[in-house]
Amino acid sequence: MAAREASMAKREAALASREKLLISREEACSKLEAENAELRRVVGNEEAALRTAVGLHRRTKEAVKVKKEQNVQMSQQVEELNERVEEANQCGVCMDRACNRVLIDCGHTFCEECIGSVAALAAARRTCPSCRKRFTKQQIRKLFL
Ligand SMILES: [Zn+2]
Ligand SMILES: [Zn+2]
Repeated sequence: MAAREASMAKREAALASREKLLISREEACSKLEAENAELRRVVGNEEAALRTAVGLHRRTKEAVKVKKEQNVQMSQQVEELNERVEEANQCGVCMDRACNRVLIDCGHTFCEECIGSVAALAAARRTCPSCRKRFTKQQIRKLFL
């Protein structure tokens, strides 16, 4: 009987120590889980930051692209404007860039020399080389640009 009791006590002691071990393992395990959760949180934050940075980078790149396209469009417009100015500066008679510019009543401009030769013609043939509107010598005005 006493031997049996002793064996029971031994078993109980073994069980208690095993339980203790289990508890300490569980504690270690939950500690690890807490560390893991913290790490996941940190990684999650870093991923979010990275995504934000990538998004920002992409948006910046797109903005730069749009700006570049706008610049190209603007320089095209400037070029077109320059061409138009060039055209407007052109004398309708000699097709050169008119230097001593004169303006006649219809609004067209020519070199003084070119319109002078037209103005020298008889009144009936004295018409604007561009729009054929008649003009008089008095209507030739110097143009200062
Ligand atoms: Zn001319
Ligand atoms: Zn004209």
